[in-house]
Amino acid sequence: MKIVIALGGNALLQKNEKQKYETLISNIKKTSNYLSRIIKENQVVITHGNGPEIGYLALQNEIAKNKIPPMPLDILGAESQGLIGYPLEEQLINSLRDHKKNVATILTQVLVSKDDPAFKNPTKFIGPFYTKSQAQKLKNKYKIKKDSNRGYRRVVSSPKPIEIIEKKTIKKLIKDTIVIAAGGGGIPVVKTNSRLKGIEAVIDKDLASACLASSIKASYLIMLTSVPYAYLNYGTKKQKPIKEISLEKIKELQFQGHFPPGSMGPKIQAAINFLEDKGKKVIITSSENLQKALEGKKGTIILR
Ligand code: ADP
Ligand code: MG
Repeated sequence: MKIVIALGGNALLQKNEKQKYETLISNIKKTSNYLSRIIKENQVVITHGNGPEIGYLALQNEIAKNKIPPMPLDILGAESQGLIGYPLEEQLINSLRDHKKNVATILTQVLVSKDDPAFKNPTKFIGPFYTKSQAQKLKNKYKIKKDSNRGYRRVVSSPKPIEIIEKKTIKKLIKDTIVIAAGGGGIPVVKTNSRLKGIEAVIDKDLASACLASSIKASYLIMLTSVPYAYLNYGTKKQKPIKEISLEKIKELQFQGHFPPGSMGPKIQAAINFLEDKGKKVIITSSENLQKALEGKKGTIILR
């Protein structure tokens, strides 16, 4: 069976953890162990987030900018695909060493529209906080907005993914290879006169994963995150896990606002997009519950 597994930030770096080499490797090792069974038995594409990583890369560029010219965000996105893809590939190769499967990371570009309304209204905060006067100085270079009461921050657009540029290559590879692709939602590119060009934006990794899952005609889309379920009334006394649910019902709940933008909202939207585009099943759970979720005993399971 063809399966796309999207790894949430947590599978790579837990909240409040510092981006250290040792932490990255130990988290990836843990996650790889949870994945080892499913990747042996299926044709799998693994996607992943890059929020903390691209934040760190942007910060490194910022700090070093007087000595080394900074790189644009699309290049940093590509760097983050290598930063995570390489150690993940290494761990998976180690856990598959007695099997006939290969592992490969595909640098992935994702097409977005120049006319996406997100470009007029950037909402995704990235990188460090600035004071008001620092923000004033950077105003010509970046779009800067106030991030709640914590200070000023750079904002970038989060346009909708339209097409995975490397989809044909990925489709060919999955027959005998575990593919790591669309890291961080993919490197955003726009098309002008049928030529590609990178653009400074961040694509939501769950929406990009759904786009990829549809384009390779996957049966399942699995999103692994920090919580075992999507909940109703999350964070309140009335919080209730959503177990098995239909596409129609989850659309109703999404409409009622149970899932906030920037966290659970895009996962539910990704689920809806995928199931409306011929996908069979979506699972949202944490990596330690993956196996049980496949047996239908844990996790939020959304069916067409
Ligand atoms: P990821 O890196 O996996 O994409 P996110 O932080 O974007 O992680 O999304 C997962 C988070 O969404 C959970 O840790 C939880 O705090 C939050 N969340 C918000 N609303 C809900 C909900 N209704 N059900 C479950 N989790 C929710
Ligand atoms: Mg997220």
